[in-house]
Amino acid sequence: MAFTEANEHPAYSFGLFIMYTHSKNQRGGGRARFGDRPRAGGGRRFVRGGAAHGGSRGGSSRGAPRRGRFAAQPSIDISRYINKAVEPEVVEAFVPEHRFADFSVDERLKANIASKGYVEPTPIQDKSIPHVLAGEDVVGIANTGTGKTAAFLLPLLNKALANRREHVLIMAPTRELAQQIAEEFRAFAGRLPVHAAVCVGGAGIGGQVMALRRRPQFVIGTPGRLKDLIERRALDLSYFRTVVLDEADRMLDMGFIGDMRTILALMPEERQTLFFSATLSREIEGLIGEFLREPARISVKTQDTAASIEQDVVRIPPGANKLAILEGLLADPEFDKVLVFVRTKHGADKLSRALAQHGFKTESIHGNKTQGKRQKALDLFKRGHVRVLVATDVAARGLDISGVSHVINFDMPMTHEDYIHRIGRTGRAGKKGKALTFID
Ligand code: ADP
Ligand code: MG
Repeated sequence: MAFTEANEHPAYSFGLFIMYTHSKNQRGGGRARFGDRPRAGGGRRFVRGGAAHGGSRGGSSRGAPRRGRFAAQPSIDISRYINKAVEPEVVEAFVPEHRFADFSVDERLKANIASKGYVEPTPIQDKSIPHVLAGEDVVGIANTGTGKTAAFLLPLLNKALANRREHVLIMAPTRELAQQIAEEFRAFAGRLPVHAAVCVGGAGIGGQVMALRRRPQFVIGTPGRLKDLIERRALDLSYFRTVVLDEADRMLDMGFIGDMRTILALMPEERQTLFFSATLSREIEGLIGEFLREPARISVKTQDTAASIEQDVVRIPPGANKLAILEGLLADPEFDKVLVFVRTKHGADKLSRALAQHGFKTESIHGNKTQGKRQKALDLFKRGHVRVLVATDVAARGLDISGVSHVINFDMPMTHEDYIHRIGRTGRAGKKGKALTFID
């Protein structure tokens, strides 16, 4: 139990203590296993002092109450916020069954895969690509940051290259995620004769209508805007025989279920439907039954959260100043690319302003900003021009930002799924990351 004195900077001692306990944990018992995660009490730590402040709490849960049963207070077992990361050497080495060269895909595509620097497929790619290539419906479940995008993009690009009349629709819950999938598409499509239109809200619809007139083989978008384009008769789904639902469980949460149903109903029944996420809620099982046909189910998850993410809690005593605690953590240079999650849009602006006033380079991203500002904040953070990005759950899903050192849940997530996706912004693609959750 760490007990810091009122005259010390509380949070800084936190940081030290957290690192201390972990380096100890990682020695101790040889092979780390996820079954032996410390219980909540083991990670318990207290802080003293800290003036009360009215400042930067997330405020009301306005804007967030999805799923009625979670509406008032998040009710999550705190022990689920604590986990040691597993040293890469300790993790059993994954031996893929296939190499990219083994897949029967277009040689030009293989060349682009190689030039993107991918040598071996990740587990989800290894297991699901053959099924997608075979034309089957697939439910692919794998931890955050393990390459689900390429697991569907590569075989579908191959399908599109093999037949110019194949058209693929990809739906994602947020505009930024749709944009990111499009970027990855461009990297793989290189100079090949296959094109994508990105159809997301917050951007002018005129350009998207024009892009669709050229009948691109890939359309990547968010459900709301796709539905608009269908209503304007700019998008005809009757000849799209492949659809990908990336992070569809989030689309459900956001109330897009009606739009998704409408959109899928406009597609031919004879089609290939793919579903990818890190989480599978009970509600989404219903959708899978409704939209997919005898899907191949590929799950390469061994535990809820990626093994590469070290997780711990920071207990906030009643009346303590959360902002000061956050700033104390940020005083440690190890926190060099930090994504801070809050519950509300207003809370995001407020916290970002407060941090900026105290000299931190920070931006915020949330649904009340214009799309231009959202994208700009994200780009600045991606390129390392700002050190702290304060975000609502709009940034929790799918975003692949290289080198996020820490995810901090300044406000607790509403559900365990939200938690998994939030912290999944760090510790991606074989790197390690840290997640801290403030517990009131
Ligand atoms: P997920 O959708 O599972 O969260 P992403 O598809 O966003 O993960 O991929 C995470 C990161 O891993 C990306 O930066 C991606 O470029 C990288 N990546 C994916 N597949 C491979 C691979 N086979 N080899 C190397 N890096 C990969
Ligand atoms: Mg993804």
